[in-house]
Amino acid sequence: MAEGSQSAPEAGNDMGNDDAIGGNVSKYIVLPTGYCGQPKKGHLIFDACFESGNLGRVDQVSEFEYDLFIRPDTCNPRFRVWFNFTVENVKESQVREIVDTFRVVLRVIFNIVNFSKTKSLYRDGMAPMVKSTSRPKWQRLPPKNVYYYRCPDHRKNYVMSFAFCFDREEDIYQFAYCYPYTYTRFQHYLDSLQKRNMDYFFREQLGQSVQQRKLDLLTITSPDNLREGAEQKVVFITGRVHPGETPSSFVCQGIPPGHWAALSSSFQNSPGIHWMSPGIIDFLVSQHPIACVLREYLVFKIAPMLNPDGVYLGNYRCSLMGFDLNRHWLDPSPWVHPTLHGVKQLIVQMYNDPKTSLEFYIDIHAHSTMMNGFMYGNIFEDEERFQRQAIFPKLLCQNAEDFSYSSTSFNRDAVKAGTGRRFLGGLLDHTSYCYTLEVSFYSYIISGTTAAVPYTEEAYMKLGRNVARTFLDYYRLNPVVEKVAIPMPRLRKEKSPPYKHPLLRGPASNYPNSKGDKKSSVNHKDPSTPF
Ligand SMILES: [Zn+2]
Repeated sequence: MAEGSQSAPEAGNDMGNDDAIGGNVSKYIVLPTGYCGQPKKGHLIFDACFESGNLGRVDQVSEFEYDLFIRPDTCNPRFRVWFNFTVENVKESQVREIVDTFRVVLRVIFNIVNFSKTKSLYRDGMAPMVKSTSRPKWQRLPPKNVYYYRCPDHRKNYVMSFAFCFDREEDIYQFAYCYPYTYTRFQHYLDSLQKRNMDYFFREQLGQSVQQRKLDLLTITSPDNLREGAEQKVVFITGRVHPGETPSSFVCQGIPPGHWAALSSSFQNSPGIHWMSPGIIDFLVSQHPIACVLREYLVFKIAPMLNPDGVYLGNYRCSLMGFDLNRHWLDPSPWVHPTLHGVKQLIVQMYNDPKTSLEFYIDIHAHSTMMNGFMYGNIFEDEERFQRQAIFPKLLCQNAEDFSYSSTSFNRDAVKAGTGRRFLGGLLDHTSYCYTLEVSFYSYIISGTTAAVPYTEEAYMKLGRNVARTFLDYYRLNPVVEKVAIPMPRLRKEKSPPYKHPLLRGPASNYPNSKGDKKSSVNHKDPSTPF
């Protein structure tokens, strides 16, 4: 979530009722009290011993109700939000609720009883994700089956209960807080990019985590910009410093791996790729005219997964050793925070290189209590610099229907001094802008409407593409693109406040108020069979 949640009053300070939780449940079979025989069908089996899995304990209330405990982040019991586990061994005779004359289904209640937060989008209609063996596409449960309330039975913790109908005996069902995105998936994705041998895409290992996982750094730019002595305008993007904030990876990346092979040929040959909703990386490596122009003009440095151990372990906010890495930018240790140390060293080195102009730093997060996409920026004494900083989010608001300028805020809270955005905002000079990009775990509301549209993987990716294309507007490169191709349709959502201060350098100072298409092409309907 937000940079600020560590200090927020809702952050839990006790361990809830889960003092005994040491690790994830491993093929844990729930047997009825007093039952001594061999497990039978219908004795539910819970498992979270897989990558990014998280479930610490299961207490049976009845055959049809279970209390579930999130495993706290490793070495930091304060954070208990992310969950990701499977349930199997469902039995037909557990069916008990008569839905209609001819059809009966099993309805089980799961209570997640030890959240460390009180404020939650569950109050606003968010629902857990589910998929199953026969329906492998993640879906959100119907909100009407989800309840979020303060429970006297669990130290007055907030409890999220959801009712679920197991409808296929042989299926393994998986439940998660949000769309999972693992370290292994990320590595496969980067491998697939490398195999394409693009002369404008470079992957290197900037360092490694405490558990020896890779800290990958991508460089996307025209080879001309990497010639000896070439001057570089750099956009630096990071993601997944908070491991449970999986939307960060969808914004950063793009097409799911399974779709890659089928789409890659047309993807490379067609300029009209916007319908595929690539995220930032997929868009920037594409042959879309905007991407080609951006590569000519800018050097993109992207470290998409700053906390690979936390991602692998199924933590919500911390690293293996229990540190919130986004509080340690001031003085990261090469031993305790090696990935952060590595990326900070590189940024400082680039800052000190006279040939390099580090123009943007954007750190991508997900937010557990707010809707939409929005940004945090810095406060500067210099009014003009402060105003200039507002340009990028205003332009992004023009391009992305899910991005809210009114939710964007600028602050210098002492508690956030150790965040990347705050630290680099203080380090870099007046020509650089540093932001945290937040995107809701749940949904967005389009201006002029009231309905919350739940984010899909594709919608997260689309926000990433819109971030990338906003650099075109910022640097006023639209005329360059128009020479080579028809630009993508523009979207307009919230009316962003007019920009008043003409700029002294580069960026768009007088971009036109777009009157482009209002309607989005986001597909709000999930085509797969509902649970
Ligand atoms: Zn975060």
